[in-house]
Amino acid sequence: MGDIPAALESRLLRYVQIDTQSDEASSTVPSTAKQLVLLQLLQQELETIGAHNVQLTPTGFVIATIPATVHDRELPRIGLLAHVDTAADFTGAGVKPIVHRNYDGKPITLPDDPAQVLSPVDNPYLAGKIGDDIITASGTTLLGADDKAGVAIIMTAAEQLLAHPEIPHGEIRICFTPDEEIGTGITRLDMDALAVDFAYTLDGGQVGKLVYETFSADKAVVTITGVAAHPGAAYGKLVNALQLAAAIIDTLPRHTRTPETTIGRQGFVHVYQMSGTAARAELSFILRDFELEGLASHAALLQTVCAAIQATEPRAKISCVITPQYRNMRYWLDQDKRAVDFAVAAMRKVGIEPIFEPTRGGTDGSQLTERGVPTPNLFTGMQNIHGPLEWISVQDMAQAVNVCVELARTVAS
Ligand SMILES: [Zn+2]
Repeated sequence: MGDIPAALESRLLRYVQIDTQSDEASSTVPSTAKQLVLLQLLQQELETIGAHNVQLTPTGFVIATIPATVHDRELPRIGLLAHVDTAADFTGAGVKPIVHRNYDGKPITLPDDPAQVLSPVDNPYLAGKIGDDIITASGTTLLGADDKAGVAIIMTAAEQLLAHPEIPHGEIRICFTPDEEIGTGITRLDMDALAVDFAYTLDGGQVGKLVYETFSADKAVVTITGVAAHPGAAYGKLVNALQLAAAIIDTLPRHTRTPETTIGRQGFVHVYQMSGTAARAELSFILRDFELEGLASHAALLQTVCAAIQATEPRAKISCVITPQYRNMRYWLDQDKRAVDFAVAAMRKVGIEPIFEPTRGGTDGSQLTERGVPTPNLFTGMQNIHGPLEWISVQDMAQAVNVCVELARTVAS
């Protein structure tokens, strides 16, 4: 089956050197034009390896087809997705990837900032990778394995499938997406253009991880309108919106139900932004839980606290507006388990025991699932994402390619 690790390595090294950071503050589509540089390159590469119907859509999605090799029966059409953008948390400009070949188990000091040391003690998963080829950045940038590893894995799996028509499979759709890190990309994907029965994102961590459970998420904005007055003549008149905002935060739980005090399957109420003046203040919250009842209880708590503080000062006006963001994909995947079952079967066939772990966040798959395409998330191997110590093992990526190829075969069997 060719030299899969070498193909993966050369692809990842090429892709990470193209800066594709997305920008939440931008109003263009995609949010940064530099993402198109990689998207156009992927479009060309898909054509070179012989993919069919390769297109770059007006909203910045590269979509292509691997034609079916089985024609005597109707098979579900599956999608493989990865995002090209990198996170805003750390710079992705001028990435200098380094291959630490045949890793010796020692701490890895990154040359451009020797304070950045990747230690197997702090990273037990790395300690298990002795003999692997480890790829890091050079210390002053992130690596961008999130999610260019996913892109390289899908491209390499596509190449394998196209080069081996003797592998029985149905039609497979490849999709490279922009602006995942800012949450706006997938909203602009035309589901009719994708045209699949179910799909997988390749955007997960350690080998074996299979995510089909995510948070359900709401956003809440609390607006406090006080009564403005000149501070020198405020006696009995001023109603300070900032004081009331502080009282709301102070009344909410601090030792429970916050991101920093919860773990595993526990949800939270998180105040992430406050702004304002004595006259008017605004608090922004995210509410998260795996269960809808839990999410509703967080909303009820916030509303109760707002009402209680409102009751202390009738001259103020406190409003709390809660809007849905995304929902746990498990609600849909419980109805149609095919995508998960095929992934489990494919992993076991290549000798990987699946690890089910709910994600304390959302994925592009959360939205696709809600829009009718069940989309669990598969591993790529990426570690320490969004920072300078990001790394990945080439051999982990190769296992992900094996899973993708086996998945194609499993769906056809
Ligand atoms: Zn990602």
